[in-house]
Amino acid sequence: MTNQNAQEQTTQLQHDSFAYLNGELCIEGLSVDEIADKVPTPFYCYSASTIRNAYTLLSDRLRPTGASICFAVKANSNISVLRLLSELESGMDIVSGGELERALAAGVPPSKIVFSGVGKTRAEITRALGVGIHQINVESRAELDVIRDVARIMNCRAPIVFRVNPDVDAQTHAKISTGKKGDKFGIAIEEIRELYAKAAESPELDLQGLAVHIGSQLLNLSPYRTAYVRLASLVKKLRSDGLPVRRLDLGGGLGIRYDFGVGPNVSEYAGIIQDTVTSLGCELTVEPGRWLVGPAGMLVTEVLYLKETGDTVTAIVDAAMNDLMRPSLYGAIHPVLPLQSSDDRAQCAYQIVGPVCETSDVFGSYGDLPPLHSGTRVAFGCAGAYGASMASSYNSRDLIAEVLVDGGRFRVIRRRQTIDDLLPLEKPTPWSTINSCTDAAIAL
Ligand SMILES: *Cc1c(COP(=O)(O)O)cnc(C)c1O
Repeated sequence: MTNQNAQEQTTQLQHDSFAYLNGELCIEGLSVDEIADKVPTPFYCYSASTIRNAYTLLSDRLRPTGASICFAVKANSNISVLRLLSELESGMDIVSGGELERALAAGVPPSKIVFSGVGKTRAEITRALGVGIHQINVESRAELDVIRDVARIMNCRAPIVFRVNPDVDAQTHAKISTGKKGDKFGIAIEEIRELYAKAAESPELDLQGLAVHIGSQLLNLSPYRTAYVRLASLVKKLRSDGLPVRRLDLGGGLGIRYDFGVGPNVSEYAGIIQDTVTSLGCELTVEPGRWLVGPAGMLVTEVLYLKETGDTVTAIVDAAMNDLMRPSLYGAIHPVLPLQSSDDRAQCAYQIVGPVCETSDVFGSYGDLPPLHSGTRVAFGCAGAYGASMASSYNSRDLIAEVLVDGGRFRVIRRRQTIDDLLPLEKPTPWSTINSCTDAAIAL
């Protein structure tokens, strides 16, 4: 890459926190290569100031609408990241009991936690009500019955909203559309009126309002307008039935550009909220995940081997689909950032793959890279959302470390898992000591 190219790349990086300084890729002024000298690759690396800037920008733009932010924990559930956002006054949107414990461990008050998700268990509902959660988003009649039952047993009132499926096409990847009729999420909009009226009569239920979440990675904002207009008209119908609607949860889904292009305009997003629902006078919440943390992270990896495969040169790196699932799951392409900008004018093409034994373990084909060699380090950009949080230990590979850079310093915020963490879960117990009802059958 020429210096000029390196410079162009610098200006393309979405946030000031990432830049080539003296030819080295830096996060907040810190050389990523120097971090990689101390933390073995692969690892995730996040910029705290990029997350803070994103949060501050969004909350500024939303201020006139009155909407507050609950970060969708599933996008990046590291408790240091949750704490950072919580310190900025963010609430949290969780989808499991595990995420509830993470949010609590990060110091988030239960009064700022919203529980979404299509299949909450009785145990999860019990724990959520036990800690005094702000709101449970109900996704079906059957779930409503369980919530009512648990609240009765616990002698409390469950604060709920109904998640509406507004039948809107989010115009995003089929695997992340959630608001179309037939998607497994929410309750069909036609059924809400009757269900709402019934729930309003239940002493165990503290019925607060409605929620929508139409999908993820929305780059076109117009589906939001369609969904919020439908939501607003439903609110008016419910109110005309004499039913109170105090809260509206507007969901997440704001997309980011994985090629460092200009993403959706958040002022326009705020304008849509203002136009469609602000005048209803409800308490408003949005639940962005990806938009707040995606651009703030990278996956740092090292080339293990080069190999000729047909006409292409394949670079096998030490990161794989188990570390970053998005390419193999959604066909997503993450940009590759060389850690060193190079004066070499050659622009080489590589297919970059991981070592996992799956044909889909491919990050992508890239045509404009400096020459790679065994030992060259590169980073996949825009990997702060749905990266570490989606990782698995498939092929018995370690869950990798996560590093947070903040103000010129870095810290490992999750150590790398080792096989010694995993093997004790599988200690073989001799069958001779087990009969089907003894404790030995269930405890290792
Ligand atoms: C996943 C999810 C979000 C966040 O989605 P993003 O695309 O990351 O903004 C918000 N709300 C609910 C209910 C979700 O399931």
